[in-house]
Amino acid sequence: MNLPALRGHNTAVVLGLLRGREGVSRGEIAAGSGLTPQAVSKILAPLRAAGLVAEAGRGESTGGKPRTLLRLVPEAGYAAGVHLDRGRLLVLLVDLMGRRLDRVDEPLELADPAAVVERVAQAVERVAAGRPLLGVGVGCPGPLDHAAGVLHRVTGLPQWDGFPLRAGLAARTGVPVAVDKDTNAAVLAEPPGGSRSSVYVHLGSGLGAGLVLDGALYRGARTNAGEFGHQTVQLDGPRCECGNRGCLEALCLAALRAGDAPAAARLVGAGVANLVRLLDVDRVVLGGAAVLAEPAVFVREVAAELAERIPDPAWQAVPVAVAAAGEQAVAAGAAELVLAPLFGRES
Ligand SMILES: [Zn+2]
Repeated sequence: MNLPALRGHNTAVVLGLLRGREGVSRGEIAAGSGLTPQAVSKILAPLRAAGLVAEAGRGESTGGKPRTLLRLVPEAGYAAGVHLDRGRLLVLLVDLMGRRLDRVDEPLELADPAAVVERVAQAVERVAAGRPLLGVGVGCPGPLDHAAGVLHRVTGLPQWDGFPLRAGLAARTGVPVAVDKDTNAAVLAEPPGGSRSSVYVHLGSGLGAGLVLDGALYRGARTNAGEFGHQTVQLDGPRCECGNRGCLEALCLAALRAGDAPAAARLVGAGVANLVRLLDVDRVVLGGAAVLAEPAVFVREVAAELAERIPDPAWQAVPVAVAAAGEQAVAAGAAELVLAPLFGRES
């Protein structure tokens, strides 16, 4: 693919207007982007030459000649979305429309970083199967430095501390790589809908969150935002794996170990209510193995806790839902780390 054709903010805006729609006229692109029709034509020419945009037939005439409709060519480029988890590797191939195609899903031990890079690269090659790959996005447990693509001291995995995952995987695959926390990737997998500020809460072997604030993923100064599970909710509570006492994660995991999913869900709900008060998010998305095992319980209990703790739900209603991509949320969102910038969506 002709990558230079993808550069530039206005190009991203035009591609964003074409994504997810069947056929769009030049006039609609001009109206949606605020660009002049001449500027739109100038942007479209190299995109059509590169095979990214094609004609989608003719639209109804508004007088004069019929309008030519344009569409994005989904198979013009692909991204691989990788979910590196404790014990499992999931790699998805995603086209330009964000549709999930082939996947590799297999057991994986995270013990040896160099061996993991090799396994991931091989899985990416298998799903891509020779199709043009724009890049690889990786969602994995934090802490990590998104900007540098380097992992920090992941709990229980000291050998990953300082490991340059992005550089290693880019060298091995030959395409650009983005690395982010699993929760940050997962929040990108949600269709934005009308939401400007949302939180994705992940409860699996740990408890974390990904935040979209004012339309953009929020990572904080050192990719440490969203350490939702380590807010102290009980000053003299049980010891947490992080070394502190009374963390929300420690209480949630204890409830899950006791087989009490509703109690775990209410604890998550109390934490989410704190977050809504702090950040005024307008949507809550739940994911992770513990949630997906009993989705109805989690949605019901988190919503009930929110309704009880938010001062006036009449004007601060916050819908609660399960992640649209289910157990593929992290991998699908990891692919968006690569694709979203092409369409003018910040990632
Ligand atoms: Zn903790």
